[in-house]
Amino acid sequence: MLYLDHAATTPLRPEARAAMAPLLGDQFGNPSGVHATARQAKNAIEEARECIAQAIGATHPLEIVFTGGGTEADNLAVLGSSWPERGGIVATAVEHAAVLESARFAEKNGQPVSVVEVDRLGRVSPLDVAAAVDERTAVVSVMMANNETGVVQPVAEIAELVRSLGSRAVIHTDAVQAFASLSVVAGPASPDLISVSAHKIGGPQGVGFLYVRDGVQLEPVVHGGGQELGRRSGTHNVAAIVGLGAAVAATVADRDGYRERVGAARDRFESELRSMVEIQVTSGDAERLASHSHLRFPGVAAETLLVRLDLAGVAAAAGAACHSGAIETSHVLDAMGIAPGVAAESIRFSFGRDDDASSGAAAARIVGDVVRGLS
Ligand code: PLP
Repeated sequence: MLYLDHAATTPLRPEARAAMAPLLGDQFGNPSGVHATARQAKNAIEEARECIAQAIGATHPLEIVFTGGGTEADNLAVLGSSWPERGGIVATAVEHAAVLESARFAEKNGQPVSVVEVDRLGRVSPLDVAAAVDERTAVVSVMMANNETGVVQPVAEIAELVRSLGSRAVIHTDAVQAFASLSVVAGPASPDLISVSAHKIGGPQGVGFLYVRDGVQLEPVVHGGGQELGRRSGTHNVAAIVGLGAAVAATVADRDGYRERVGAARDRFESELRSMVEIQVTSGDAERLASHSHLRFPGVAAETLLVRLDLAGVAAAAGAACHSGAIETSHVLDAMGIAPGVAAESIRFSFGRDDDASSGAAAARIVGDVVRGLS
């Protein structure tokens, strides 16, 4: 089985599994209590928080808010920062649905929303983002890298430009896909809010965090018992949070090596495949994550190809992650101006931490053979 769908989810890292094991056993406490078992759980959470804060250079561990994953972190960032004064939201057209649907929800409640278009290669222009910002804008949300194409956005430049306009908007970046390969550092020049999800970096599913710069006010989206300083209520998923901490530490420690390995896998995959069949890289020569290979196979239906690849032992993806088993037309490819017929011939392969040039070559041989059989 060649698993080339790491952008959808990744296998659990041994470090995360080992760190989680005691919390799934006799260390089962609810961290909100006062007795020793509760304190043990509380300590485990605070250790994970400190470890993550250190890994991203946050000035204080309490700048890390644990959430139930990347989707919830994005909701908290977009809705939480704009709600207090019903401010405006600026987001790019290629954001994950967690951001775009949050913005749509806010729009239904009367908040102004501006969606900034991207170019043919999926890149947003900092000037276009700046032009969409006005005095009502409360949050600007631009992802670090796209989940489908892997295209990297100029987030630092956008943050600098928006701030130079004197805008009081907070800057949010969804770093869910980027975290595995790109340096994510919280600091004066960084976004004010950064979303990260555990399961894209070898942690468990259903947990993530939002970095919230000290001083940024957020209205919670999950109300209840006031955990996470009132920013995210609900009993903590202690084992998952500890797994997230271990995954973040391992990811940051191995980032350079990871980038080299997946880059070698992806580049070898594309070069060998190109020698066998016709391919087009969806994002052309735009900067993209080393792990992502979003390709068009002219004349080959992606849906059929995915099924044939699955039968041949290769896991890949088409369109956005399919929620119901059916492949939906990708709003990302649509925003890039890619015709539906072309999008329907496009597939995403995404490499992971155990890949290297030889697995890239092996994948190319199988994919090339399957595509030839369909052409
Ligand atoms: N943002 C991006 C860019 C993603 O790729 C994903 C997951 O596909 C999410 C947010 C949502 O994260 P989660 O699956 O943890 O809810």
